[in-house]
Amino acid sequence: MMKLDDCRYEGQGSFKLSDYPTSAKVDKADRSHIEELMANNIERMIELQDKLYAQGTEGVVIMIQAMDAAGKDGTIKHVMSGLNPQGVKVYSFKQPSKEELAHDFLWRAACHLPQRGEIGLFNRSYYEDVLIVRVRGLWRGYAMPKRCLDMSEKDFFDQRYRQIVNFEDFLYENGYRLVKVFLNLGLDEQKKRFLARIDEPAKNWKFSAGDLDERDLWPQYMDAFEQAIGATSTKRNPWYVIPADQKFFARYLVSEAVVATLAACDPAYPQLSEEDLAGLEACRARLAGE
Ligand code: ATP
Ligand code: MG
Repeated sequence: MMKLDDCRYEGQGSFKLSDYPTSAKVDKADRSHIEELMANNIERMIELQDKLYAQGTEGVVIMIQAMDAAGKDGTIKHVMSGLNPQGVKVYSFKQPSKEELAHDFLWRAACHLPQRGEIGLFNRSYYEDVLIVRVRGLWRGYAMPKRCLDMSEKDFFDQRYRQIVNFEDFLYENGYRLVKVFLNLGLDEQKKRFLARIDEPAKNWKFSAGDLDERDLWPQYMDAFEQAIGATSTKRNPWYVIPADQKFFARYLVSEAVVATLAACDPAYPQLSEEDLAGLEACRARLAGE
């Protein structure tokens, strides 16, 4: 069975998206076993997050990128079920507002970073700025000086990849870890899910005709993902390319990535000093004396 390690890319060799399957082809009979493993991971997350929060020294940002209908929302819901909402900040990266567009492209991400001790959940992220912005050529219309735009598409995005790597190194060096997840959905599976959104009234709200316009640009998107993942995966901040055609397995693998990252933080409850412990004993005596 496929493991988290099979999905991790940290910059070793050159990155080819086609080396990463969209389905791990897990037998349906194994589903309940996977769900048990997932439940264990949720338990672990609860335990680790409690310590992370108590300690307050390291922040974690989980970011999920994918084509439409790859299961971002469901994955976020499942991961959330293992976290205390008090220590989690969820943020969705929509089309940038006027104010956001008037800033550098990393500004809104920086504004929505969790505090150390908290977990941030990014539904999409600043990677949109090297995905849709590249595929749709939006960068050419940005209000920026000539020196920032007067270059080839390749140069412009190579520069952005470098800026992202620098930003992510900066975060690492300032007490943050990232869990970068690409839910790798197959073209056929997306079609099935779109049809289900059209067929089932309870899913109609999730569908918009515009999603088909992005689907028409599938090869361009895959190319943009391949380049972005290839250029921004590092040992500190690897990408996880998760097969997304089977939702239950994708969710399990994402829970594996989250647990692995929280465990790497190795959080522990703060230890009280001798003096603080003596203070606690004094409080005990005071309560006993009431
Ligand atoms: P989702 O599709 O994530 O479930 P949604 O359907 O509720 O969300 P949309 O408005 O469709 O909401 O999704 C956000 C849209 O904004 C996406 O098409 C995304 O590519 C786009 N977007 C995000 N960031 C940027 C950006 N920096 N520049 C341009 N478009 C962006
Ligand atoms: Mg959408």
